Amino acid sequence: MGEFELIDRFFKRLGASRDDVMLGVGDDAALLAVPIDHELVACVDTLVQGRHFPSSTRADDIGWRSLAVNLSDLAAMGAVPAWATLALTVPAADEEWLEGFAMGFDAIAKAHHVSLVGGDTTRGPLTVTVQAMGFVPQGAALRRRGATVGDLLYITGWPGDAAAGLALIEGRLPGQGAYRGALEHKFRRPEPRVAFGQRLRGVASACMDVSDGLGQDLGRLVAASGVGAVLRASELPLSQALFALAGEQGARDFALGGGDDYELLFTVPPSRRAGLARAMATAGAPACHCIGEITAGRGVRLVSDRGDLPVPRGWDPFSG
Ligand code: ADP
Ligand code: MG
Repeated sequence: MGEFELIDRFFKRLGASRDDVMLGVGDDAALLAVPIDHELVACVDTLVQGRHFPSSTRADDIGWRSLAVNLSDLAAMGAVPAWATLALTVPAADEEWLEGFAMGFDAIAKAHHVSLVGGDTTRGPLTVTVQAMGFVPQGAALRRRGATVGDLLYITGWPGDAAAGLALIEGRLPGQGAYRGALEHKFRRPEPRVAFGQRLRGVASACMDVSDGLGQDLGRLVAASGVGAVLRASELPLSQALFALAGEQGARDFALGGGDDYELLFTVPPSRRAGLARAMATAGAPACHCIGEITAGRGVRLVSDRGDLPVPRGWDPFSG
């Protein structure tokens, strides 16, 4: 199977078909119509086998993940996803692998009405780069900067679950049964908060997605906003599964330093709490928990009834 046949068979019609794709896969570049009075929102993420996912990861999970992590970035901006491009480096034209990958990618692309409009295919160590594009009404995008003193700090979902799932897969954390399955699933199939991100427009003063650990990512949000934050250890949402398998201390370490959550971390001025309640009441909205607040000064403090605790360091590809 040559490159052309491979693209034709597996990547020509992936995801949703959309009226705003004037020209998709097959020419030298794609032509895409951005709606009037909107801004194009673009992001890209690379997944390297053995670094961003274990070598044992199934092809369909890699396909899902490669788009999910990008949709999470669009969600954090409050954007509506529309298009994606895919630069795929594979060691061989393994049909079964390609079919699995395409299936996983297609499933999440269709779920979010995203059309695959182009890409590049080459041979080498397994590496997947996806670029996602979407749009927001002019000036309405959510940013990391914008948090001010007194804003309440929230996170969606159950941070730490995915990191514990990866630890289970890699044998660093023992555990069996339903809890194990639930946590592994959270790592294998991240669910980006796309609809909820759009609902946070006009409500959140700052927003980002959490991929490298809550503690570290919160540090980035407050640095971008020029403020500080207090995190309350007692308010961290820890899932029953995480608590059961990792214990209280372990659960907190996964939640703060784990990574791979793809949840939204955002701030809300107290005056807009009613707007947040409305966003949270919409169908399919994720659980949201208030975990602290924005303060004067700089950096992140983790407070508990036994005094301040150190903030675990998150994921950094160049550390260690
Ligand atoms: P060129 O050499 O002009 O870059 P390619 O031969 O790389 O063109 O690609 C041919 C067409 O197939 C282009 O439209 C490109 O966007 C698309 N394409 C290549 N690889 C992929 C892929 N993995 N997924 C989706 N589209 C792809
Ligand atoms: Mg090319």
